[in-house]
Amino acid sequence: MVYDMRMITILGSTGSIGQSSLKVISQLSDELTVFGISCHKNTLLFYKQIKQYHPKFAVITDRISYNNFVKEYGQKINDTEIIYGDDGLSVIISDSNVNSVIAAIVGFECINPVIEAIKSHKIILIANKEILVSAGNAIISLLKKTRAQLIPIDSEHNALLQIILSSGLDYKINDQDYYQQNIKKLTITASGGPFIDLDVKDFKNITVHDAVKHPTWNMGTKISIDSATMMNKGLEIIEAKILFNIDLSNIQAIIHRESKIHALVEFFDGSIISHMSNPNMMIPISYALTFPRRTFLDNIQDYDYTSFSFEEVPIDKFPCYKLARYAAETAKNSGLILNAANEISVEYFLENKISFLDIPNIIEYILETSEFVNHNDFQSLIDNDNEIRISTKNYIKHKYL
Ligand code: NDP
Ligand code: MG
Repeated sequence: MVYDMRMITILGSTGSIGQSSLKVISQLSDELTVFGISCHKNTLLFYKQIKQYHPKFAVITDRISYNNFVKEYGQKINDTEIIYGDDGLSVIISDSNVNSVIAAIVGFECINPVIEAIKSHKIILIANKEILVSAGNAIISLLKKTRAQLIPIDSEHNALLQIILSSGLDYKINDQDYYQQNIKKLTITASGGPFIDLDVKDFKNITVHDAVKHPTWNMGTKISIDSATMMNKGLEIIEAKILFNIDLSNIQAIIHRESKIHALVEFFDGSIISHMSNPNMMIPISYALTFPRRTFLDNIQDYDYTSFSFEEVPIDKFPCYKLARYAAETAKNSGLILNAANEISVEYFLENKISFLDIPNIIEYILETSEFVNHNDFQSLIDNDNEIRISTKNYIKHKYL
């Protein structure tokens, strides 16, 4: 398989993944160009990106930020047209010149852009895990009706993909029969986040400042909090299930503090193959952009093999991980409920309105009190997500504020 992916759109170019994606594209500028980029509020960085990468279109999704930006710079900066909102996103996603869309907007907000990219038959590099957790099955059903492809760039899932392809297997997204026949076990690793060694009795003193400091990865704020609670690993278990679809009991996470091994696949002959790299998102992004070729040049000289350790996830310390596993097993819309309650709880934690320990308690309450149902269409998923957000906010107001 060789892809000719010349024109790239990056949704969320001002984020951590978005910035890494732009760096990759500039290193591979012989074959990749930026067609469209989007930001929400960070127009300072966005302006610099427009000047540096000269996209054809630049979309600002926050109304006030867009108005202020256009007032200051006008509707065009050199050859780049500045456009607004959902209609703007539509332009940079569905334009026939675009081959590939990088989905790096954080949270469930990324659902409509990804639906549009699928309907437009694009190759989608998916960083966003929240929509796979909330709407994975609906996304897969839609995908199967189109020529679109979904390539994971979340490091562990990209590592799983690399192992699977290197082992001579195919990437058949969500194909239960195929993966169940060929793969015994999938393991993804977790650094353990900033609190792996903290005594549980000190968790009550955790501040936002402590929680956003990740020991090995440099990421956006929301995913950094998810890593600190280990919700991130729970979401990633569900993500792995959606992509590679083997029995949940055979999908596990282990603590690997060094973040050098990202995933391991166990086969029925007893072989286990793992993927190692430095913790640098440019590696999975570049692989996904040009796979199966490896075109990116990592400038790190030495790879430190000396200190590899593995430990079980201390689940009693990290109830968010447990809740995510529970949601994975419950299926139906439980991933959606888990994700919406988590997004709202993280938002309130970041605003210093609730404590670190409140996050799992709130999610657990919302999971316990919400109805588990199946959704047949995206609109009912989107409506349900909205309802869960409202009930989570009401619960927080009632109980904590
Ligand atoms: P960031 O917070 O760094 O960036 C988020 C991006 O989304 C920014 O460009 C932001 O714009 C934009 N955005 C925020 N809110 C909205 C909105 N309402 N509408 C449209 N755009 C919006 O996140 P990350 O880059 O860390 O993560 C992005 C996604 O990738 C997440 O889903 C995360 O789980 C996933 N991921 C991230 C990894 C990482 O290493 N960072 C690793 C694996 C997965 P602005 O800043 O301009 O307001
Ligand atoms: Mg990850």
